[in-house]
Amino acid sequence: MDSISLVSAQTEILKKTFEKSEDGILLLKGSRISDCNPSALRMLRTNDKQKVLNSHPADLSPEKQADGKFSSKKANKLIAIAHKQGFLRFEWLHKRFDGENFLCEVTLTFVQIKNETVLHAVWREIGDFKLHQQKLEKSIRLIEQKQNHLNSIINTALDCIITINSKGIIQSFNPAACKLFGYTEQEIIGQNIAIIVPSPDKEKHDQYIANALQHPGKTNFLGTIRDLSAIKKNGLEFPIRLSINAVPSQNEMLFCGFIHDLSLQKQLEIDLLQHNELLEMEVKLKTEEFIKAKEIAEQANQTKSLFLANMSHELRTPLHGILSFAQLGLKSVKKGDLGKLERFFDRINISGERLLFLLNDLLDLAKLEAGQMKLDIQQHELKQVAENCVADFEANLIEKQLTIHWQETTGNTLANFDKQRISQVITNLLSNAIKFSEPGQSIFISFSLYDLLSSGRQQKPGLLCSIRDQGLGIPAAELDAVFDKFIQSSKTKSNAGGTGLGLAICQEIILVHKGKIWAEQSDDQGAIFNFAIPL
Ligand code: ADP
Repeated sequence: MDSISLVSAQTEILKKTFEKSEDGILLLKGSRISDCNPSALRMLRTNDKQKVLNSHPADLSPEKQADGKFSSKKANKLIAIAHKQGFLRFEWLHKRFDGENFLCEVTLTFVQIKNETVLHAVWREIGDFKLHQQKLEKSIRLIEQKQNHLNSIINTALDCIITINSKGIIQSFNPAACKLFGYTEQEIIGQNIAIIVPSPDKEKHDQYIANALQHPGKTNFLGTIRDLSAIKKNGLEFPIRLSINAVPSQNEMLFCGFIHDLSLQKQLEIDLLQHNELLEMEVKLKTEEFIKAKEIAEQANQTKSLFLANMSHELRTPLHGILSFAQLGLKSVKKGDLGKLERFFDRINISGERLLFLLNDLLDLAKLEAGQMKLDIQQHELKQVAENCVADFEANLIEKQLTIHWQETTGNTLANFDKQRISQVITNLLSNAIKFSEPGQSIFISFSLYDLLSSGRQQKPGLLCSIRDQGLGIPAAELDAVFDKFIQSSKTKSNAGGTGLGLAICQEIILVHKGKIWAEQSDDQGAIFNFAIPL
């Protein structure tokens, strides 16, 4: 090829490159556009090259650039720099003919052609790319913000938030979980969740996950709230409230568990229950006490009424006797019937004595019950005191042909007591035994040692005196009642004749001696009356 042909071929290549280039190519002479390629026209959205030619770059730009500087001034400045340096690349905001702005990367190169300096400008539109990049950066910033937000929620949550993967391996364990379970994050992450699950769920946990993966939405633990137990690092099992949700992630399904410690709540529930039980018990006790107090008050009221009724009867009977025999006596005086008069006086005397006994008994009992009875406690032989009492009944014993049998297992019968008061007790018991014995029978008086406490190792030594007869006896159900005032056993009621105060007085006397008195049924019918006093 000759040199002419070569030049024309090269010119053709350059022309094609200029025309076919995707980038806009413009030639400037001075600061005015002298030529441009079709891409530059396409970017400016015009087919009319004339509109472009001879214009200043600022004419194809908005009034101001992105940094707020005037396009005309800035363009001249950049051209000057490029001129100086021979080359300059920068971003420039152009304006299409339809009014839309677009961003270009502009490369200015100064080319010397013969004596003329031509400015070669290449425009590469970067508006879309920039916008996309900005959007992407904005999204990343947003995601980062959300991530930070989420992290701070998870890190400051009071409840435990734990995530595991589809193999049950712990992926995250928030600070609340670390604190509650006692593990550090490094220790627990990577462990199987079974480490904090007690049996029997521990063994079934893998199956739970397999089910959740196979039948998503059908498992009974996803999305529900359940009260279960968990295990701390120190092995302590404690109550929790658990809810689990499936969290689909890029590669696999994760499960996020929210755990709330129920220890305090359960403890409060137990405390409340115990408190309620205590309250109920207290109310029950108080009610029982109240009912008992009410019953005692009613009983006392009844006893008082009974006592008054008995009293008026017991007082009236001898008084009536005295008055009626006194009236009869008066009549006999008038008639001068001394025989009758003597009998009436005799009756008056008997009734008077009965009245005196009754009043004495009543006064004794009142004193004893009021705690006003002064005791003269000294050491005495109880058997001797009993023998003296028996001696007082000699006439009655002979009259009824009764025999007294003595029995003593103690060597001596020394004890500390008020002789007069204990004599009163023995006399009363003996008089009852004689009264309720049949002629020819025997009365047994025995003494033995007796433990007044009879509870375990502690002892309170006492002396027991038992008076057993072979008389009528007392029904088992009435053994305690005979010690009440005016109470007579159902067996003796008809032929009683007593006041019904004797045993009540005996009981009071023995109680002020800090002793015990009780009645028993004897094996060969009859009654046994026992009293024990401290040694
Ligand atoms: P009193 O003998 O004056 O009626 P007590 O208080 O001494 O009063 O006795 C109360 C009741 O106990 C007697 O009325 C009698 O029913 C019963 N009692 C007491 N001692 C005996 C006894 N040895 N055998 C059978 N009953 C007895």
